[in-house]
Amino acid sequence: MIDRIYSQRVPLPIFPQGEVWLAGAGPGDPGLLTLHALNAIRQADIILYDALVDRSCLYCAKTGAVLEFYGKRGGILSPQQYEITGRLITLARDNRRVLRLKGGDPFVFGRGGDEALALARAQIPFRIIPGITAGIAGPAYAGIPVTSRFYNQSVTFITGHDTSGQLPNNLDWKAIARGAGVLVFYMAMKHIGEIVEALLAAGRDPHDPVAFISNATTENQRVVTTKLFHATQVSSEERVVAPAIVVIGKVVNMISALAWLPKKEG
Ligand code: SAH
Repeated sequence: MIDRIYSQRVPLPIFPQGEVWLAGAGPGDPGLLTLHALNAIRQADIILYDALVDRSCLYCAKTGAVLEFYGKRGGILSPQQYEITGRLITLARDNRRVLRLKGGDPFVFGRGGDEALALARAQIPFRIIPGITAGIAGPAYAGIPVTSRFYNQSVTFITGHDTSGQLPNNLDWKAIARGAGVLVFYMAMKHIGEIVEALLAAGRDPHDPVAFISNATTENQRVVTTKLFHATQVSSEERVVAPAIVVIGKVVNMISALAWLPKKEG
């Protein structure tokens, strides 16, 4: 359908052989793919996709396209980052149209920058296709605008993991706790207890509202709300699962008026 509506009017690029396109697939709902991402999926000879890419995004691949899974499985990193970049470079030198498809936006906590750097160093021509990031779309699907002029003039995006899987030790918790009205955490569930403690110790209001949004924008989206002082306990009692976005700040209260997705039965 998109084809008929757009293809004759919107000039979308031809995917040249020997290039790597690094694209974001959005957070899950395939309707959140951009036209550029869809255009890339349709033309790619080979698609290397990561764990957070919804499989339905791959249905538009052309007949004969090779689909390779490259990402975390069962929490185990497989394969290593250098193997992925090595594969991208080899395939491009082999004159394929190579699509590296990542969840959300490739340049937001997605190592897309590292992969693009490796391509640049190897002098492989590449294109970056931004995607809709989970930290904005997830809250939107829950009914939370990440900014609202009534509540906040800034928003901070934070990762709860560093490259070794630990809570990053260079985060300035005082600055984070006081700096922005809204905090959006990615990859926070493993260390949620430490994150909550650090924020409270740094002076964040214990009654600040918190939302956990799991599997955002997919059929399995689940939203749990609480207050900061209670957040660790609630996340374990409610069995909040990854992938999840954690939003902290008064905008979370807007859920009561703006939750627009029909609630699932049961
Ligand atoms: N590049 C991605 C983020 C990759 S980091 C983006 O821009 O969205 C992986 C983290 O993203 C997960 O641990 C989780 O915090 C978040 N995430 C990705 N997809 C998600 C989804 N559908 N629902 C909730 N969180 C998601």
